[in-house]
Amino acid sequence: MALPRVVFVGRVNVGKSTLFNRLSRVVKSITLNYEGVTRDPLFDTIEWQGKRFEIIDTAGFSRLQEKDPITLRARAAARARIADASCIVMVVDGTAPLLPEDLMVAEEVRAAGCPVIVALNKSDARSSFDEYAAAPLGFEHVVPLSAEHGRAIGDLLGAIVDVLPKQQAAIDEKPAFKIMMLGKPNVGKSSLMNRLMGEERSIVSDVPGTTREALEGRVSFYNEDILVTDTPGVRRPRAVREQLESLMVRSAFDALDRSNIILLVIDAHDDPFADQERKLAFYAFTERYKAVMVVLNKTDLLDEAGRKLLAERIDEYRHLTKKLPMIETSCLTGSNLGKIMPRVHELWQRYSQWLPESEVQRLCISEINKKPMMHAGNKLRVHSVRQRSTAPIVLEFVVNNPLFFDEEEKGFFENLLRARYDLVGVPLKCVFVKNAS
Ligand code: GDP
Repeated sequence: MALPRVVFVGRVNVGKSTLFNRLSRVVKSITLNYEGVTRDPLFDTIEWQGKRFEIIDTAGFSRLQEKDPITLRARAAARARIADASCIVMVVDGTAPLLPEDLMVAEEVRAAGCPVIVALNKSDARSSFDEYAAAPLGFEHVVPLSAEHGRAIGDLLGAIVDVLPKQQAAIDEKPAFKIMMLGKPNVGKSSLMNRLMGEERSIVSDVPGTTREALEGRVSFYNEDILVTDTPGVRRPRAVREQLESLMVRSAFDALDRSNIILLVIDAHDDPFADQERKLAFYAFTERYKAVMVVLNKTDLLDEAGRKLLAERIDEYRHLTKKLPMIETSCLTGSNLGKIMPRVHELWQRYSQWLPESEVQRLCISEINKKPMMHAGNKLRVHSVRQRSTAPIVLEFVVNNPLFFDEEEKGFFENLLRARYDLVGVPLKCVFVKNAS
């Protein structure tokens, strides 16, 4: 199946090639399964927020006034690519007035009739940068960025993904993401998986620990092929005081590392959020940076006292529970089972989102300045913030001294961002690096 084609155009000297190369590089460094993709200086296949598309560079729109045969051939090739584009990125120099050639490129682009995004380049040169420079072109989507400094590249990718047509996943393509069910024995993992897959894949039994091997199955949902891995998870129910390593079998650790989304299944009526379950949530969310959703199962067995206890536990461990989405289910009555996959899908969207980079940076810097934080008499300073990847979201803070930034500071930024963006169930990894200068 053909991938959507994103075609880059722009007159000479606007930074088109720098942007194109930057894009291939940035995305490649965070894209899995990249091997085997054909490399070409003018083409690349990239994946962003779960969408895969081709980016295509064109050289043909420089020197539009010239009429020599080579230029004419290049122009014809560029026109063919534009005619075939799903989306066009027109690169413009934000530090120079528009030239007649920019307007000629814009005319060609407009005629193509597909969505156009203007990349207003060189937005780092603050003194002479004009954020309205592209306005006369009349295109709706304008993203100020700096190809050279790698600024706001994520904003551009986000804008591209937004305008691309919805993709149908090919049947033999790799699943978009992997889900793993984790939980104590007997909480209903196998029952849930059977219900999700609509068939008896694993044997449900009343005896704790009967799900012996990790089982895998595929669930089709909204055209996405999702791999569900069910594992023994926690084998020893009474290992509460033992180290986490002894709580999970090796295969469960491996499965967890290979998964993106963890469904922590809890028996809502039997000691919910027990020590063991909190450890598993902490491990998956805080240490392995997996997206986590809590499935409170067996709610058909909840009486009034059980409801009360459940609410108390959720409140008692709110430092953890407030960060995680929860869904109440019953495999017996079927209650809410149909909502699990839509919720998982929403979680995946949040986990693979690209936060608005410039806004995140402004927010973090202004808040830390508002409430100056000190470390041994030194003021903490944040110079810049970049998002380095999605799923998991990794934010890199360039600071005056990384040693000044510890759990408390990390918590400060995390709370700030959680209050502003929809990050329920999504861990944030903050790394602090030293200012290069
Ligand atoms: P696992 O060890 O976590 O995979 O748990 P199982 O799926 O094997 O379920 C353990 C037992 O709980 C079985 O007897 C299931 O029939 C029962 N069970 C699972 N889900 C529910 C539920 O929502 N309500 C009730 N009442 N029983 C359930």
